[in-house]
Amino acid sequence: MNSNTTPADLSPQVQALLARIEAKQDEVVALTQDLVRIPTVNPPGDAYEACARFIGERLKPRGFTVEYVRALGAPGDSDAKPRMNVVARWEGAGSGECVHFNSHIDVVEAGSGWTSDPFGAEIRDGKIYGRGTCDMKGGLAASIIACEALIESGMPIPGALEISGTVDEESGGFAGVGYLAERGYFSKPRVHHVIIPEPLGVDRICLGHRGVWWSEVETKGRIAHGSMPFLGDSAINHMSAFIHLLETQLQPKLKQRHTAEPVEPPGARVSTLNINSIHGGQVEQRYATDERGWPTADAPSPVVAHSCRTVLDRRFIAEENLEAVKQEIIDMLDELKRTRPGFDYGIRDIMSFVPTATPRDAPVVDATARAIARVLGREPSYIASPGTYDQKHIVRSGKLRDCIAYGPGILDLAHQPNEYVGIQELVDSAKVMALASLSLTGAMR
Ligand SMILES: [Zn+2]
Repeated sequence: MNSNTTPADLSPQVQALLARIEAKQDEVVALTQDLVRIPTVNPPGDAYEACARFIGERLKPRGFTVEYVRALGAPGDSDAKPRMNVVARWEGAGSGECVHFNSHIDVVEAGSGWTSDPFGAEIRDGKIYGRGTCDMKGGLAASIIACEALIESGMPIPGALEISGTVDEESGGFAGVGYLAERGYFSKPRVHHVIIPEPLGVDRICLGHRGVWWSEVETKGRIAHGSMPFLGDSAINHMSAFIHLLETQLQPKLKQRHTAEPVEPPGARVSTLNINSIHGGQVEQRYATDERGWPTADAPSPVVAHSCRTVLDRRFIAEENLEAVKQEIIDMLDELKRTRPGFDYGIRDIMSFVPTATPRDAPVVDATARAIARVLGREPSYIASPGTYDQKHIVRSGKLRDCIAYGPGILDLAHQPNEYVGIQELVDSAKVMALASLSLTGAMR
């Protein structure tokens, strides 16, 4: 396939399919608007059930078998905020392979700085504005329209199509794709290929992501009266020594560790460490004084901090391994223990995922690349993500490697005020998803 490909090179059936999707422009816009108007804000996980039911009720009359899967007992799940996922499956005419489109239905809070209602889904200049338009209800709508158009076209499809709407991706996906993947929803023989319509852009294929290790480090001290700090031992001073080492020794070293993976933006083609939070001493308050200069409430009492905790967010590259990443930080702490009087520490794992990278010759990559060339007349670019997304659960728990992220929207707009998705991108990505599905289910080479 080359950049001179024109629709004329496609079979009349495929041309008719693309025309059918083009004619659904108003429908994909309306569907995106309907989804954005369900405010599935996470945290705390609002309106998940309403959104899951909305998707299920749309797909059922179109021939899908619809299942609602509540992540009972998962973090965050409660009767007030049920973690409700929806999985819909359409069986084709044969025993061919299944392609699954997975979208998260949660969005982050609107925040400030909006010039229109964040849940209004207003249209201006060929774009739909609202929280979740780009990340990722536009992608969800495009995948639904793609599958519906395929089914309506009457083309013989020997495999199966699945669409899921899952919760909590923004907070790790443990009650969403994580929960489903542990229960076989993202494994063979049920599913063979997964496309996650995250907003990576209509001509880019995201192959995977860097690894992540979150940990909490605690330094220990000895409590004493704050007017005589020499009688105690400050955990905050000890933490400060550790953070000084992170900044002067570890972070410069990490910057030198380059990956061959095409991580975007290019600044993330190295290892990184973020100090996510730090807390030492007494419980945090907002202190103030009244007009007399007296503390208004909850004045602190004078103590030397006996504990200080920091949360570290270490992102590592495919060329590193998790055990070495952990050991490097433990070695620094042990070195302080040897050299700094009174230094003592604890360290706890919070979460870890190893890097994933789907090979470029994997079926889902190849099919999507050819679909992009056919629809847009240009070759795709291949990227990897600096942060993890639900692919991590599909690879780890589902043991499925044939997975990519591909969808409409500009990644930089995600989580920002005035987030939008372009209407033409919705249509173009739906076409790409439909053609990729034809290849992956065995309906077309
Ligand atoms: Zn997303």
